[in-house]
Amino acid sequence: MIDLRSDTVTRPSAAMLDAMMAAETGDDVYRDDPTVNALEAEAARLSGKAAALFFPTGTQANLVALLCHCQRGDEYIVGQQAHNYKYEAGGAAVLGSIQPQPILAAADGTLPLHDVAAAIKPDDMHFARTRLLSLENTHHGKVLPLSYLEQAWQFTRERQLALHIDGARIFNAVVAQGVQLIDIARYCDSLTICLSKGLGTPVGSLLCGDEAYIEQARRWRKMTGGGMRQAGILAAAGLYALQHNVARLQEDHDNAAWLGAQLSAIGVEVVSQHTNMLFVKVPAEQVAPLQRWMQAGDVLLSVGPQTRIVTHLDVSRQQLQQLVARWQAFLQP
Ligand SMILES: *Cc1c(COP(=O)(O)O)cnc(C)c1O
Repeated sequence: MIDLRSDTVTRPSAAMLDAMMAAETGDDVYRDDPTVNALEAEAARLSGKAAALFFPTGTQANLVALLCHCQRGDEYIVGQQAHNYKYEAGGAAVLGSIQPQPILAAADGTLPLHDVAAAIKPDDMHFARTRLLSLENTHHGKVLPLSYLEQAWQFTRERQLALHIDGARIFNAVVAQGVQLIDIARYCDSLTICLSKGLGTPVGSLLCGDEAYIEQARRWRKMTGGGMRQAGILAAAGLYALQHNVARLQEDHDNAAWLGAQLSAIGVEVVSQHTNMLFVKVPAEQVAPLQRWMQAGDVLLSVGPQTRIVTHLDVSRQQLQQLVARWQAFLQP
């Protein structure tokens, strides 16, 4: 099987499973799990924040992040295509009574600060209270420039807003920019990180922030059902991933760029490629047949008019060569 639907499909490697098997555990609700504590300490160290908290999913970590920044009747400004607006089942509104104010992202994935400024509500009883700017990095593979993050940070300081980064794929940005996590995290109050995407763990996300913020997050995590017990088994996978699977993300980026060039050479229209994500156009009449053709060849792809192809640690260059050959055979039978 070649699975290019997402980088969430990665399986734990033998070495990662060994690390999980060997994990020392305790009851993390009592804060007794040494492996969870070690993972949280490592995330805090890498992000330069005072504390971090381990979550089962990124969706829950983002929800808790919003619940900590915003009260009932508050508002957050967020991208129209952002995960924590569009793809988290409306959790902030449903469970937090927090109003989202979505705005369009620019072509580079940033939220233009003049548009953010225009969306901030005056202090007036007619309006929700604007409290937070939420950015996503990477956003559909696009890395937010550090200069933009610095401006956004300054801007939010002047406007008394908090700044959250949904960094589900933040390490793809770290590797692409050749920086350290702290060089990005310095421009936010809170940061979520997914361990279960390109980093290759089966489960897990982290929320980083200051001490008081993470204490509050601990309560919301419990309330939303995310207080896990012997979670050290899962945290061990996270520690392993942070040690072994960060630098190698460059391979995924190189593979996505290589695949884009190869598909383009056989006549596929490439829309864009950033980090580990490639978007190509598929003519409407080809969508269903291409999906079937790929499936029959043990290739899993979410084919649509705009098809997203995601590279990750379980897809080799050789498998991508097979994919290109199969696509070519489809186009020129
Ligand atoms: C995947 C993802 C999340 C969290 O997803 P979970 O599947 O709940 O872990 C959050 N934000 C972005 C941008 C993502 O891609």
